[in-house]
Formats: sequence, structure tokens, C-alpha cells
Amino acid sequence: MQIAVGSGKGGTGKTTISTSLALSAGTDVQYLDCDVEEPNGHIFLKPKLTHRETVVVTVPRLDESRCTACGKCRDICAFNAIAQFGKTVMIFPEMCHSCLGCFRVCEEDALIEDTREIGILESGMAGDIHFVHGRVRIGEAMGVPLLKAVKHKAEQDRLTIIDAPPGTSCPFVESVNDADYVILVTEPTPFGLHDLKLAATVLKNFKIPSGVIINRSDLGDDRVQRYCDSENIPVLLEIPFQRAIAEGYARGINLVDTVPELRTVFSDLLTRIAFEVAQ
Ligand code: SF4
Ligand code: SF4
Repeated sequence: MQIAVGSGKGGTGKTTISTSLALSAGTDVQYLDCDVEEPNGHIFLKPKLTHRETVVVTVPRLDESRCTACGKCRDICAFNAIAQFGKTVMIFPEMCHSCLGCFRVCEEDALIEDTREIGILESGMAGDIHFVHGRVRIGEAMGVPLLKAVKHKAEQDRLTIIDAPPGTSCPFVESVNDADYVILVTEPTPFGLHDLKLAATVLKNFKIPSGVIINRSDLGDDRVQRYCDSENIPVLLEIPFQRAIAEGYARGINLVDTVPELRTVFSDLLTRIAFEVAQ
């Protein structure tokens, strides 16, 4: 079973919840940090990383001896990664999105497949938790292939918790599209509600069952709760603000270590979700 944890934006407690779930699972569990732009699950799970690999994408390299400067590759490239000045064709690999379109249109076999490193993938164990995360290269715009590489490490027979990237754009969709269930973490504020609505709409379109956890539940109003009621989205859990939680977070201490009684709450939540997914 795959459970993804997302949020409309950063800073709402997504990683706190996903790492807490992994720590409370009490079974063969895997944690995949798909927030490759800013992975911070490792801060709370403190894994021993034993494996590291670079992740690359395919980019074109020009074989000038074959190129007739027909311009077809430049014309098809939607990312301006190929430019042509008279008879000179230039390729800018850092702008390439690896769509492979240019290879398809070149009739002269003048484009050679080359690779470009976009980031690294690391894995190891955090106690009993199988841990995987990716770190995209600084300034790199191609996070999704790295995210896919992290997701590719999911073991089908293992409970997998996916820490999805914030927002609702491509990386979020890519993270959740195979999930059996998505937990959306939000705050009871107008901004929280706005972002929640966007994320919930995406999940509805993909027909992925979801539930909501309201973090710092006592610091806002009840509009999130009312929205969830009106949309039939279950509110799975409400976590009131506690100074100890915020201080623990700032020191890299996980929620369930700061408030140990929450382990049972998260463990029960996993059981509830498993039951719902099995229906
Ligand atoms: S692979 Fe796609 S993005 Fe990259 S240079 Fe070719 S057409 Fe452009
Ligand atoms: S499509 Fe091929 S032959 Fe035409 S400009 Fe590009 S690399 Fe050269």
C-alpha cells in the first residue's frame, strides 16, 4: 500500500506527518522523500545512508559532420535548448528537458545521445525504516525525473509512505499518481483552505481517495472543517499547536518523539486507511 502525504504549500507540516507515520507503522515500512528540491525527512529520521547513485537524463550532442543545418531540431524544441545561427547549430544541455523530440525529427542521425547529471539518489535504513531520498542539483529545473527515480525504489509488498513535494503542479501529481491514498496536511487559515482546495481538486480528478490532517488546528477558524464536510473529505486528525512540538521541530526532533502518545494515534490512522483502501 502506498500512502502519499502532500500539502498545498510548504511549511504546513507535511514532513512532520509523513515521518511520524513511518515511525509509527511498526511494520516493514518504506519512506520515500519525493520532495527532491528540499528533502528534509532525513533531518527527522536520521537514516544511515549506505547507497548513493547519480541520476542522469538523456540530452543531445551534435555530430557536426552529419548535420545539414536543416533546423528541424531547433523548431521542435519547446525549451529553446537548440539554437541555430546560419549554418551553426548549438545545443544548450542545461535547458534540455529530455523530451527526445529532436532525436525523432533529425533525419541525418546527427544527434548523439549524451547524458546530463540532474541529481543524486541516496538510500539506507533509519532504524527499521527503509529510507530513500533524492537531491536535485542546485539550479536544476528537472526535478521530475529524479522524483521518478526515487519512486521507482518503492517495494510493492511494503507499506510505503511518500513525502510529496509541496504545491499541486507536476511534481505533486507525479508523486501521488500511484498512491492508494493521499493525506493532505493543512492549516485552518484562509491560505491553508485555498491551497487545500487546489490539492483536493487534483485528487478528485485523479479519483484518488484522500483525507485531511489539520495541523495547528486551534490557531485559525473552522472553514477548513466546513469545506471538508461539504466535500465529504474526512478530517483524519487535528493536531493543536504546542510550543514543545515547534521547539522539537526546530531541533530536528520528530513529532512522535516529542509527543509519544501520538504514535498510537498515527498507528491507528494507518489501520483506518488500510481498511478504507481495502474496501
Ligand atoms: S530532447 Fe527535447 S528538450 Fe532536449 S534538446 Fe531535444 S527537443 Fe529540446
Ligand atoms: S535536425 Fe539534425 S540535421 Fe537538422 S539541424 Fe538538427 S541536428 Fe542538424
